Amino acid sequence: MSVYSDSSSQLERRPAGTLRADDTGRRVLLRAWVHRRRDLGGLLFLDLRDRSGIAQAVVYPEDAAEVYETLEAVRPEWVVEVEGEVVERESKNPDLATGFVEVRVERAQVLAVSDTPPIQVEGQVDAAEELRLKHRYLELRRPELQENFLLRDKVTLAVRNYLHENGFVDLETPILTRSTPEGARDYLVPSRVHRGQFYALPQSPQIFKQILMVAGFERYYQIARCFRDEDLRAERQPEFTQIDLEMSFVSEQDVQSLTEGLLAAVMPLAGIDVELPLPRMTWRDAMARYGSDKPDLRFGCEIVDLSEILGSSGFRGFQAAVGSGGVIRGFAVPAATAAGPTGASRASRKQVDGWVEVARRYGAAGALTLRHRDGELQFQVKNTLTEHDMRAAADALGLEEDGLALIVAGDPMTTAKALGALRLQLAEDFGLIPEDRHAFLWVTEFPLVEWDEEEGRWFAMNHPFTAPDPRDLDLLDTAPQEVRSRGYDVIMDGVELGGGSIRIHTPDLQQRAFELLGIDAEEARSRFGFLLDALRYGAPPHGGIALGLDRMIMLMAGTPSIRDVILFPKTARATCLMTEAPSPVEAKQLEELGLQVVSRDESPADGSSDEG
Ligand code: ASP
Repeated sequence: MSVYSDSSSQLERRPAGTLRADDTGRRVLLRAWVHRRRDLGGLLFLDLRDRSGIAQAVVYPEDAAEVYETLEAVRPEWVVEVEGEVVERESKNPDLATGFVEVRVERAQVLAVSDTPPIQVEGQVDAAEELRLKHRYLELRRPELQENFLLRDKVTLAVRNYLHENGFVDLETPILTRSTPEGARDYLVPSRVHRGQFYALPQSPQIFKQILMVAGFERYYQIARCFRDEDLRAERQPEFTQIDLEMSFVSEQDVQSLTEGLLAAVMPLAGIDVELPLPRMTWRDAMARYGSDKPDLRFGCEIVDLSEILGSSGFRGFQAAVGSGGVIRGFAVPAATAAGPTGASRASRKQVDGWVEVARRYGAAGALTLRHRDGELQFQVKNTLTEHDMRAAADALGLEEDGLALIVAGDPMTTAKALGALRLQLAEDFGLIPEDRHAFLWVTEFPLVEWDEEEGRWFAMNHPFTAPDPRDLDLLDTAPQEVRSRGYDVIMDGVELGGGSIRIHTPDLQQRAFELLGIDAEEARSRFGFLLDALRYGAPPHGGIALGLDRMIMLMAGTPSIRDVILFPKTARATCLMTEAPSPVEAKQLEELGLQVVSRDESPADGSSDEG
């Protein structure tokens, strides 16, 4: 066969990843990166990669010697242009969408050369993260990573379309602004014009979006960047993106249905079905049944209260817990687990010690096992529980033959949190989470405030603009811990996708909320005077929500790290290894700003001054 045989057919510029069997015979032009090069001595194979995917090109010296020469010289990550006929491959690769065909190259040109890349684009990721982040542009060429960003683009487009169709207006709020209280530390920007004064980068557009409701926009959204200067845990980034929205004249139900519609529009882009309406669970229920305010409902192991059954049993620890107002709770793991067919009841001593450690980390005294093993029930502390007590507990827990249950006793909140953590730990240890399953829900009726022992004051569970449940208004002064808020979170697979609330829309109630949080009238005026003012001029009832876009894409893409869905993520020390931000600035810039840098060693000797 001559490669020139049908030179009459027109040359088409094609993305590499689009070539299919029925393109055979077409003449195509590809512009792409060299992903892999295999020289079989007298025959050259190139995997050519562009955004759309990978196609194989084959070069025969007998077709055109100079083409062969040109392409023989190329190395991974060079950029080339090749032209040729699409032909059927001799050995097909069914794993690749383009794997039935290859391009038989007739003409080629090198568009750009590449130094030897410090990290490999093709194959396994083995370079240290530091090196990968420093050369992020190379890492971003990896098809797996590119896919995440192409998905992200599809999602934001679908979000915009959905919200636009639902009457929302995309409005941009300021980045140089005043502190917004989401409970984290602000990033500050010094003002040159007003020496000694600072802008804060927004922790969220919260106050602005509320003011936009006062301004009469009725439905606002923004794909908004937020900045929070917190000590970074592994999965936290100092800047992140929210799908932020606010609506006037709405109830919780309205915001929730709107959000559900959004999830239903977006999730199928990753092949995830969302069944509506999503289940709802109050915070109190979520804590009691799953030990978490973001329960993972992809698996069972529901927590059961055993206080009645075991409170007066022969085990002293249980008596003591219930006697002092505490609870006894536990959950069971099924016998057959993905981790092994022998039954969870065979858990080793070492495993159990590990679980006790987890319980202790959450402040519990420990955790005890109840096993159904070799046809009998066995409580970890022998000879304390009667057969009858063990049987009653096992029935309540739904403990199966060869199954295992963990029991924790203590004050209700500690017990809940310890069991919540254990539930997740055992799910992981026993492989209880089905990979192809997703579970969404709403958690509602959060407490409005929580007491901070260290600071000796009430803190807003969400933020200070969240409305209290009108049913609990008279508890605001007498029993604030009992007051439920009109806040809600939407949870996916045990991760908080987003949260929002119906807001306070009268200045009086807002003032009362500030007072409860220990923000006196003067401080309220100086920090949020503009909001209190705005609320005086006909503020409509309103509410909204913000969904974490990065997290959402992470869950949709099924990647374990938030860094895989953020283009240029920062390290755990909040630095960008590529640009080397943050960086020192010129003395002149500091001078203009009226700033002086005091090094850590020179700062006043109380050791905490740099946090001030
Ligand atoms: N501003 C809140 C947040 O960033 C979300 C909201 O209440 O709409 O978490």
